[in-house]
Amino acid sequence: MIATKGYAAQTKDTNLAPWNFERREVGPHDVQFDIDFCGVCHSDLHQIKDEWGGGIFPMVPGHEIVGRVVAVGSHVTKFKVGDLAGTGCLVDSCRVCDNCQHGLEQYCTNGHSQTYNGLEQDKKTPTYGGYSNTIVVHEDFVLRIPEKLDLAATAPLLCAGITTYSPLRHWKVGKGHKLAVLGLGGLGHMGVKFGVAFGAEVTVLSTSPKKEADARKLGAHKFVVTSDPAQLESVTGYFDFILDTVSAEHDYNQYLNLLKTDGVHICVGAPPTPSAISAFSLIPGRKSLVGSMIGGLPETQEMLDFCAEHDIVSDIELIDMKDIYTAYDRMLKGDIQYRFVIDMATL
Ligand code: NAP
Ligand code: ZN
Ligand code: ZN
Repeated sequence: MIATKGYAAQTKDTNLAPWNFERREVGPHDVQFDIDFCGVCHSDLHQIKDEWGGGIFPMVPGHEIVGRVVAVGSHVTKFKVGDLAGTGCLVDSCRVCDNCQHGLEQYCTNGHSQTYNGLEQDKKTPTYGGYSNTIVVHEDFVLRIPEKLDLAATAPLLCAGITTYSPLRHWKVGKGHKLAVLGLGGLGHMGVKFGVAFGAEVTVLSTSPKKEADARKLGAHKFVVTSDPAQLESVTGYFDFILDTVSAEHDYNQYLNLLKTDGVHICVGAPPTPSAISAFSLIPGRKSLVGSMIGGLPETQEMLDFCAEHDIVSDIELIDMKDIYTAYDRMLKGDIQYRFVIDMATL
C-alpha cells in the first residue's frame, strides 16, 4: 500500500484536518501521480457537510486534480513517468453499460466510482480525493494535461470546466444564441468563457453588482443584477439558454420567465433543497428545464484540448491547504475570483 497524506473530514460535523491513509499499490493498468494542485469546488463543501445525504466518512474531498506521473503499471500505454496528468470527478465505471460504451461514464447505469465520497467498482472500497499528496487511478480515467497551459489554473477545468463545456456542446449553444449564465462563481466563470468561445451572446445574471467589471473582462456582453426588478424585466423572454450554476435555493420560475419560446434552462448548480416549479412556467413557450452532470472521459479530454488550442484556463486564487476554511467562507459569500486552487506543496 502507498502511504498518503491528506486532509479529511472524519464526520459531517467535524472540520477537515490532516489525516494519513493508504492508497492501493500501482496495478498493471494504474497510473500514480503526485498532486501539485487541487481545485476547490462548491461540491466539496456540499459533501463534507453531507448536504446531499449518503456521505462516506472519513472523506478526503477534491476532484480537480493535476500533477506529474511518478509510477505506471506494466500495461499502461498512455502515460510515462514525468508526464502531466489529471483526474476529475470520476475514477472508474462499469465500462460495459450502454452509457459507458458511449463515453458517458458519468451516467453509468451500474454506478460510476466518483473520485471521493464514492466506492471503487468492488462497491466496498472507499475513494479518497485530491486534498492529498498522491493518487492512484486506472489509466482510462487519467486525462492528458496540455503542457502549454498554466498547471494550477488548469486544475479547475476538470470539474468546473467540463461541467459547463458539456451541456453547452450537448445543446449546441453557439453563434446566434443568447446565453445567460446564472451565478458567477467557479462554474459560472467557465460557462462565460466557453459561451463566448462558442460564439454566443453571453449575459451574466448575478446577485453581486460588484462582479460586473469582471464579467465583462471574462467576455460577457451584458450583465444583469437579479435583485433589481427593472433589470430583470428588461430581459423577459430574451434568452435561448440559461446555464444555471447557482449552489443555493433560488426560484426557477423567475428565471424560466426570461426564456424565449423553446428556451432551455440547464441546471448544473445543485442546491441541496428541492424547489417548487409551476407547470405554467414551462407550458406557455414550450420551455425545457433540464440537467447535466460533469462530462464523460472522451469529452473531458476534448475540452482540455480545446482549452489548449484557445488558451482557456480558470481564473484562480492559489491558497495554502491550511486556509481552506477561509476559502469556503468566501465561496459561501460569493466572494470568489473565480476558483480557489490549493497549492499541494503546502499540505
Ligand atoms: P460557487 O463558486 O460558489 O458559485 C456559485 C455562485 O452562485 C455564486 O458565486 C453566486 O454567484 C451564486 N449564488 C450563490 N448563492 C446564491 C443564491 N442564494 N441565489 C442566487 N445566486 C447565488 O460554486 P461552484 O463551484 O461554481 O458550484 C456551483 C454549483 O454547481 C454547486 O451547487 C455545485 O455543487 C454544483 N456542481 C454541479 C456539477 C454537475 O455535474 N452538475 C459539477 C460541479 C459543481 P453571484 O454572486 O454571481 O450571484
Ligand atoms: Zn466539482
Ligand atoms: Zn457503466
